[in-house]
Amino acid sequence: MQTYCKNAEILCIGTELLMGNIVNTNAVYIAKELATLGVNVYYQSVVGDNPDRLKKSLELAFSRADTVITTGGLGPTYDDLTKETIAEYFGRKLVLHQPSYDKLCKYFAVTGREMTDNNKKQAFMPEGCRVFDNPNGTAPGCCIQQDGRTLIMLPGPPREMKPMFDNWAVPVLKEGNDHILVSKNLYFFGIGESSLENKLRDLMEKSQNPTIAPYAKTGEVMLRVTASVAKEEDAEGIMAPALERIMAEAGEFLYGVDVGDLQTAAVRTLKEKGLHAAAAESCTGGMVAERLTQVSGASEVFECGLCTYSNRMKEQLLGVKAKTLEQYGAVSRETAAEMAAGVRRVSGADIGVSVTGNAGPSPSEGKEVGLVYVGVDSDTFSEVSELHIRRTDDDAREYIRYLASSHALNEILKAAKKF
Ligand code: ATP
Ligand code: MG
Repeated sequence: MQTYCKNAEILCIGTELLMGNIVNTNAVYIAKELATLGVNVYYQSVVGDNPDRLKKSLELAFSRADTVITTGGLGPTYDDLTKETIAEYFGRKLVLHQPSYDKLCKYFAVTGREMTDNNKKQAFMPEGCRVFDNPNGTAPGCCIQQDGRTLIMLPGPPREMKPMFDNWAVPVLKEGNDHILVSKNLYFFGIGESSLENKLRDLMEKSQNPTIAPYAKTGEVMLRVTASVAKEEDAEGIMAPALERIMAEAGEFLYGVDVGDLQTAAVRTLKEKGLHAAAAESCTGGMVAERLTQVSGASEVFECGLCTYSNRMKEQLLGVKAKTLEQYGAVSRETAAEMAAGVRRVSGADIGVSVTGNAGPSPSEGKEVGLVYVGVDSDTFSEVSELHIRRTDDDAREYIRYLASSHALNEILKAAKKF
């Protein structure tokens, strides 16, 4: 009988997780991957290293899902009880898995360490399970399928868990599926999640194939359009009407498809057009340059980033006029314009971008916190945008700086597209 995985529950095991000592990044990773596989996730749970409570969690999870994916508790120590508890739950014995045992012996021989009984227990696996090899650690994972239920057991450390999920769990989860999922990720900047949702709510709610799901990032929104098809070639046709509608409603805010982030979109567009950019930054302190240089190949399109924090450096390095600074202040439209033109001139780049603002926490020069000017200068396009980024919490300074850098990257993109 074929067992299908339609609804999965992620069950992460570990007292450290429960106590808030570590962040549950395994659940994040698995949940995202399941979404792209088209497996539903209605519940996630966390339980400590306790066999009774783990058993109760398993019972609860299987009462509402056909598939349970666990992470953690596969190690050699006394608190690692996952395998024993799950085997008992399914009424299976633990039996020696010879290939895992041989591998373990080899590992201890090579590292010159003594193998204890604790270590040996890692080679005992539930009878009749499928064993998942762990090239990055000593604990194998496994899969048990019984009475329409699928249990996938993965180790806790993310660097062991992720490759095992990709190489072993994904094929199990795909078994019996006669369709594949094809997604397009649309990236928007300059429109909030709620306004985008407002424009497209009916489409998001009604559309079954493709499905349309929004994901908010800092100052940005990503829409994932996913088609379920028999063959990859069918996806385009199925997605077309929804994409058309999305473009009509919000196309002006779209900065890229399947690009990942603004800096990648900016570098890609500069490359396509054979252009160079340079940045002059005050309140962002180099964040624009930092983000651009995260992208491999940035050296082909990025000339320089000047972090001109003081007025003296704005004058000396960028040629901002003393009079401008005196009359309008460093945080002003006029200074931003001269900074952008200045960095373009000194670098010889096609596009100069600038950021000057007050990231807080207190007003300076009598300018409100969150007031930021972003300038851009090129032969074909020069403008200064005035931003009022309203945030007052503890993270406000970082948020204002990040958002200001996003605006600057978006200005580079806009300017590049006009060439
Ligand atoms: P080990 O052989 O290292 O004992 P294990 O499979 O028994 O592995 P745990 O003992 O539960 O796993 O966790 C080991 C380490 O893995 C934790 O200290 C933590 O650093 C990381 N880890 C465990 N669970 C998670 C999780 N859900 N998200 C992120 N990291 C985790
Ligand atoms: Mg452990």
